[in-house]
Amino acid sequence: MKTVVINNLDFALKEQVISDVLPMSSFIRLSELLNAEAIHAAKVHFQLSGHSKSFSLPSLHLQLEVALPMICQRCLEAIEVPLSPNFDYVISDIEPIEDELNDELDWMEASQSMDVMELIEDELLIALPIAPLHTVECQALQWTSGEKPNPFAVLKGKF
Ligand SMILES: [Zn+2]
Repeated sequence: MKTVVINNLDFALKEQVISDVLPMSSFIRLSELLNAEAIHAAKVHFQLSGHSKSFSLPSLHLQLEVALPMICQRCLEAIEVPLSPNFDYVISDIEPIEDELNDELDWMEASQSMDVMELIEDELLIALPIAPLHTVECQALQWTSGEKPNPFAVLKGKF
């Protein structure tokens, strides 16, 4: 698997930019939570940019764009969950005072070898919906508790 390691403070001060498209299957921890049958076609688009003047401290801006292959928790069929979250991180050796941070601004410790892939995976794991559902009505597989689903009833529902 590809690794991208940056000196995050340097990256911010020099206002560098990297962007790439990665196979979702290269994120091992994330893949375990996704629909295994659809994962091989899935990609993660990202752009990471450094900024020296956006905030009072040097910062990084991360943009992600994904369509997560998951399983609908109502009908148990495949569902794609599109997400395009953005993140801003201010970089310093010590945690900035509360006031400087808010819901949209996170603190990141200065690091000479920050793993960009790990950051992306952590953010996607946090953003992952716990129980994705189709937005249009889909039929729930129904069986009473303690009873195994009748395989013929399940098949009938699919055709
Ligand atoms: Zn569904």
